[in-house]
Amino acid sequence: MKDFLQSYSIVFRGLSAGEHIFWFTMTDKFFSFFPESEIKKARIRVKSILKVSGGSLQITTLMKGKTWMPCDLCLEEMELPIKYKTLLNVKFAEVASDISDVDDTITLSDSDNEISMAQHFYEYAHLRLPIKRVHKKNSEGKLRCDANMIQLLKSYSGETSAQKDSQSVDPRWEQLKNIKLN
Ligand SMILES: [Zn+2]
Repeated sequence: MKDFLQSYSIVFRGLSAGEHIFWFTMTDKFFSFFPESEIKKARIRVKSILKVSGGSLQITTLMKGKTWMPCDLCLEEMELPIKYKTLLNVKFAEVASDISDVDDTITLSDSDNEISMAQHFYEYAHLRLPIKRVHKKNSEGKLRCDANMIQLLKSYSGETSAQKDSQSVDPRWEQLKNIKLN
């Protein structure tokens, strides 16, 4: 398990000054190592450009791909594009610190040979997720949501108030109770 995330590392020791390109792919497997991940399904290509100059490193990361998440309204899976570009600065000191500060600088120990990017990639992928995830509208201005599911969810939200008002249970609510949402 650790070995897998280890493969998302950039080995910089011994590289000449200049730019070096590293490619990675993030899929469902990658995100499964982060139990708190909002992303479960994804296909993202990652290009990291490492710039070696003097005693410092700069890593420009470009992400492009797709993730699939449930729509907030109808719960049906929908496709969300992911596109992100960011810069990480790497400094060296006697004691390493993996916490990036305000200007996205991390500190590695003088004895480090590589930088683990897994946690950074994980965070980058989540940074640009839209807060509201709903199906887009079609050409007629209607949401592309699963109409049947919306109807069902509406019935469920109506169920509680209906039962409060009356002791008798409408047989239609009874039928809905037997339908599992997942
Ligand atoms: Zn929807």
